[in-house]
Amino acid sequence: MQYISTRGGMQPLPYCDTLLEGLATDGGLAVPETMPVVDGDTLERWRALTYPQLATEVLGLFATDIPREDLARMTAAAYEPFPEEVVPLRDIDGDLTLVGLSEGPTLAFKDMAMQFLGQVVEYALERKGSVLNILGATSGDTGSAAEHALRGKERISVFMLSPQGRMSPFQRAQMFSLDDENIHNIAIDGVFDDCQNLVKDLAGDLDFKRTQHLGAVNSINLARITAQVVYYFWAWLRATDAGGWTELSFTVPSGNFGNILSGFYAKQMGLPIRRLVLAANENNVLDEFFRTGIYRPRSAAQTLATSSPSMDISKASNLERFIFELVGRDPERVLAAWRDLDEQGHVDFTAELPRFQEEFGIVSGTSTHADRLATIRAVFEESEEVIDPHTADGVKVAREYVEPGVPMLVLETAKPEKFAETIREAIGVELDYSSDLRAMLEAPQHVTEMADDQAALRAFIEAHALR
Ligand SMILES: *Cc1c(COP(=O)(O)O)cnc(C)c1O
Repeated sequence: MQYISTRGGMQPLPYCDTLLEGLATDGGLAVPETMPVVDGDTLERWRALTYPQLATEVLGLFATDIPREDLARMTAAAYEPFPEEVVPLRDIDGDLTLVGLSEGPTLAFKDMAMQFLGQVVEYALERKGSVLNILGATSGDTGSAAEHALRGKERISVFMLSPQGRMSPFQRAQMFSLDDENIHNIAIDGVFDDCQNLVKDLAGDLDFKRTQHLGAVNSINLARITAQVVYYFWAWLRATDAGGWTELSFTVPSGNFGNILSGFYAKQMGLPIRRLVLAANENNVLDEFFRTGIYRPRSAAQTLATSSPSMDISKASNLERFIFELVGRDPERVLAAWRDLDEQGHVDFTAELPRFQEEFGIVSGTSTHADRLATIRAVFEESEEVIDPHTADGVKVAREYVEPGVPMLVLETAKPEKFAETIREAIGVELDYSSDLRAMLEAPQHVTEMADDQAALRAFIEAHALR
């Protein structure tokens, strides 16, 4: 299996060669040259597998340049920190089932992909005999998932920028309590966009990028997308009976369109998914797109800070992969869309709108702060389950699309402990932290404070990067 760019300007590459670069060399995103297909017999055979075994099968279709036994070793190691089931399913009422994606070290679904990514990046670096310095910006979940997946790795170090004083105490503790030598937390005197701009400037300096071996593990990373495909198969296998060819639907709390893109890939691979329901919060640029066919990214200033902060986006970095499929995999039409965006501030796909639902099965909805609180409260009263605010956005929108006879699965993208304040506001309950979490919250913190200054960041990286 080879990987090509959505913009048509990259020589096909094997899986391992797409891992270490965020973008394709032509500015597009790497996508499979052809989508692997899974038939019904194979799917039935997979019912007996454990999560790591299933991950080996599914990822083996994408990472054909990695020998099976190496892949099996990596998936076993990646999901070792999770409970035995890895992804448990539980009903919250007669209509909805939660898919538990947040059982990993940082209590959010990003661990699912990041834990595998840590394994496979280290493997690819060993094969090449090289090192990698990850430079990233985070407003919370991504940075901590990356650090927990990459801590202690010999060939990798992490430089993670975050806006000083703007993360929750829990998020800060999750990152700053790590004292591994290869983890560098840098708190920038600025907002998230300032952090992001520093990263873009340095990664855009190709000479610096090459000499310092800089790389990224952001949400466009192809290994993350493929690792997320696995749990759609897992959830389908758990929620259906053997022999049936039952269609079911998934609702996905969405931001950068990474998680739901993996569901879309699973559907294209032949998994019987009826609908993929995209749930947005008040920053509903994607709900607007899937309802109207118009994609109109917003500015940072137009992006609201909400109580489901990991979905606070102004543009969706993975959407280009969906658009590539929408335009029949024609790179010229992808480029034309982005030209329209530059010239008129939006892209118009209204002519394709009927296909969004009929051909791709994607529908969408929006949830607000009031919806989130009401949903957390209703689920708690009904089933005594406490769900996190992002999952609540999913539950709210899922209810609008429940159909008789079609199971509806909602992806649980985080645990409520990460967002205790909103839980208190919704149900007046103080969550009990486990002793591990309490220890983390009280541990000494390791962070370097820095001005919003490119020269200072350069010097810091030069002094601490692996070579
Ligand atoms: C990252 C994140 C999301 C959004 O996922 P995307 O892949 O960016 O669409 C939703 N919920 C939580 C808790 C997250 O951390």
